Amino acid sequence: MTQAVWFRNDLRIDDNPALAAACSGDDPVIAIYIYTPEQQRKHQVGDTKLRFTLETLVHLKHDLSRLNIPLVALLGSDYDNSVQVLSKLVRQYGVRTVHANSELEFNEARRDQHATRALLQQHTQLRFHQDQTILAPTDVLTGEDTPYRVFTPFKRAWIHRAAQSNLAPLPAPGARRAIGMESTPDEEILSWQAPTAANAHWIAGSKQAHQRLDKFTLQAIERYKSTRDFPALNCTSQLSPYLAVGAISLRSCLRQALYANHYEWDSGNQGVLTWMSELIWREFYKHLSFHYPELSKGVAFNPKTQSIPWSRNQTLLQQWQSGQTGFPLVDAGMRQLNQTGWMHNRLRMVTAMFLTKQLFIDWRLGEAYFMNRLIDCDYAANNGGWQWSASTGADAAPYFRVFNPIRQSQRFDAQGEFIRAWVPELAQLGPKQIHDPSPMERQLVGYPLPIVDHKSSVEHVKQAFKAAQAMETA
Ligand SMILES: Cc1cc2nc3c(=O)[nH]c(=O)nc-3n(C[C@H](O)[C@H](O)[C@H](O)COP(=O)(O)OP(=O)(O)OC[C@H]3O[C@@H](n4cnc5c(N)ncnc54)[C@H](O)[C@@H]3O)c2cc1C
Repeated sequence: MTQAVWFRNDLRIDDNPALAAACSGDDPVIAIYIYTPEQQRKHQVGDTKLRFTLETLVHLKHDLSRLNIPLVALLGSDYDNSVQVLSKLVRQYGVRTVHANSELEFNEARRDQHATRALLQQHTQLRFHQDQTILAPTDVLTGEDTPYRVFTPFKRAWIHRAAQSNLAPLPAPGARRAIGMESTPDEEILSWQAPTAANAHWIAGSKQAHQRLDKFTLQAIERYKSTRDFPALNCTSQLSPYLAVGAISLRSCLRQALYANHYEWDSGNQGVLTWMSELIWREFYKHLSFHYPELSKGVAFNPKTQSIPWSRNQTLLQQWQSGQTGFPLVDAGMRQLNQTGWMHNRLRMVTAMFLTKQLFIDWRLGEAYFMNRLIDCDYAANNGGWQWSASTGADAAPYFRVFNPIRQSQRFDAQGEFIRAWVPELAQLGPKQIHDPSPMERQLVGYPLPIVDHKSSVEHVKQAFKAAQAMETA
């Protein structure tokens, strides 16, 4: 009887528990992928990420074909429709068991429940495997069996548990006997979404992801702590797009970092330890998205901030989106995002804080824009990052901590190299002027005046937070 693997955000053949389980016996194995653009658009996912997913799928198809596993890819619409398509395929190919890696988010978990019921009616089992996080959310709880809401104790508990676990990534399965079935042609898969200009910056596929990981761990990881905040240095791994589609597993990344640190969890090289900590932040936000499904409905994690009367000013929002705020570092970050689909972490924090704390615009609008533009958009990390920046989230920045975009610029792009690369109209300015050009310099090159006054906007946001907190405690 045929076994099937239902691929979703796990587009790789190595360290893939669902694929490994399907291949554990001698049964024929087929791979299934159902593309759901309507659902993704409801989740605000934009064209760049959709195209990158399909390009990754084509790489997966070729990797699978070397194992003699055909890939049936179908164009669906939303999650309800994907369950119908899956049920039909299962009947068509006489599948006995479908294997899938479980997904933690609200709509995805609901889809999986529906699929389980639908397949059971056809006497087919849908078996889920743990993959999206290294440790399951129910495995990292406080002494009272509640989720951690603060990162540092979460990290401590997470490491304690992970250090006792087997973290060896699963190898790719061996080649199987050919079953004489054709896979969906590349051209058909790629016809479902045209590339955007940003896609040209990224080569899809697991091979590329592993090459990046190898290069990063060989050349940059040990200096990560001292280099990671300087966008012009380009010293972070840029693995996030690959993690977002599952072209590489988080476990493979962690394992390679541990190897570089001689398997030490809390001592050794500071660069490696800092990078491992970032991987654990990813886990933290994924676990939160599982424990607090209401977050996906736009709810602020901290109830005391729920009543803040955020603005939805469209003019200011558009100036921020298009990188025309008159604050060079903010504009450089937004233009990097618009042109490449990716933004350096320091700038994600700077631009998100600018939108929420200087323009006082609703963080949900910024969250939606990032979801739409980022090639690495990931609901849990994005929501976590936005709620951290807006001071509404779990273990968020305190509301009175507001980055001054000019000082951030002087500190993290002192020579102005990053600004020059992304805001070419300022390219002729020296390191002294570039962070905050004079009105005359701006006029000469056609660069806008600052759209907001830093000092008074910070005062405004502080008052709003104080009032919201007073309202909640009254
Ligand atoms: C407002 C805002 C929105 C964000 N949206 C996303 C998003 O949609 N998708 C996304 O993957 N990350 C998001 N991040 C987190 C972070 O900015 C990116 O993961 C990181 O910049 C990706 O670059 P990298 O792969 O070079 O990271 P590296 O510095 O090399 O880190 C390695 C990996 O660790 C994880 N990681 C690093 N920092 C964080 C973090 N703060 N939170 C969660 N995971 C982290 C990522 O998976 C990353 O690929 C957001 C952060 C902010 C402040």
